[in-house]
Amino acid sequence: MENVIIIGTGCAGLTAAIYTARASLAPLALEGRMPGGQLTTTTAVENFPGFPEGIDGPELIMRMKKQAENFGAKFRYGVVEEFRPGDPHRVKVDGEWVETKVLIVASGASPRYIGLEGESALIGHGLTSCATCDGAFYRNVPVCVVGGGDSACEEAGFLTRFASKVYLIHRRDTLRASKIMADRAVANPKIEPVWNSLVTAYITDAAGEVAGVRLRDKVTGAERDLEVKCVFVAIGHEPNTAAFRGILETSDDGYLIQKSGTATNIPGVFAAGDVADHVYRQAITAAGQGCAAAIEAERWLAASE
Ligand code: NAP
Repeated sequence: MENVIIIGTGCAGLTAAIYTARASLAPLALEGRMPGGQLTTTTAVENFPGFPEGIDGPELIMRMKKQAENFGAKFRYGVVEEFRPGDPHRVKVDGEWVETKVLIVASGASPRYIGLEGESALIGHGLTSCATCDGAFYRNVPVCVVGGGDSACEEAGFLTRFASKVYLIHRRDTLRASKIMADRAVANPKIEPVWNSLVTAYITDAAGEVAGVRLRDKVTGAERDLEVKCVFVAIGHEPNTAAFRGILETSDDGYLIQKSGTATNIPGVFAAGDVADHVYRQAITAAGQGCAAAIEAERWLAASE
């Protein structure tokens, strides 16, 4: 039986692994469908403290993993299919049941994309879901944001610092965003809303980078091409909670609820990072929660012995 199983190896999971390993708990970290998490899909990370020249997302993750391994963390590839709480807790990993005293769920969230053909190959080549990560690469060129919620409005506003123009492409003629965010976006002279429009294809240049989008007007049915150098998709995130549904409490939009600190509704089960956080969604906040979950897990183990 394991002392601690950590589900997920993004910033939250790896930080939890560093702390629990350093506390001599020899944690087992399970690397799921996207080992390393969302940072592995970014290039330069310029806002993680301690790296004034920036650091590549995959490099940062690799260093965190090495740091955890140095203290004795174990890693195993595998997707958690089922969870049975108890004493011990049991998780089914690729068909095999594994037991643990404590579980830290750091399975992250996956940004939603539109679902167009060839989409996944364009991520990092002018298609992204993170303005904070990639906005600064698109200075003095036109870009677009897809979506009509708070995220889309916030990202559009942020991108006006860099881009020459930001098209806000929404499938309806009213924004879903809160009034203050919507008003601010519409009033911004650098943001041009494109109402009732669906992106039906990405247009690429000879180098395979995004050069524009094809739009269909939902009202008139008319199609047109719009020249943009980057498409920021902001149509929501899906927390990765499939194995825990009906067992761990979630908010209406599916994020794990932290009852106190990082503790969930099940004793000995903690949640950290984007699987529980729909507000900040930053590498550093996920790492902070991973640290908190590890400390709380350690204290919980000590108290239950
Ligand atoms: P959201 O509120 O769910 O909005 C998603 C938007 O994407 C909606 O406008 C939706 O259109 C559109 N959409 C969904 N699927 C689409 C598709 N397949 N094609 C085109 N458009 C699609 O998500 P969010 O903006 O990420 O916000 C999530 C939560 O975080 C919200 O509770 C929000 O208030 C909060 N948040 C708050 C702040 C803040 O206060 N500073 C910032 C960011 C997020 P429809 O409108 O037609 O459904």
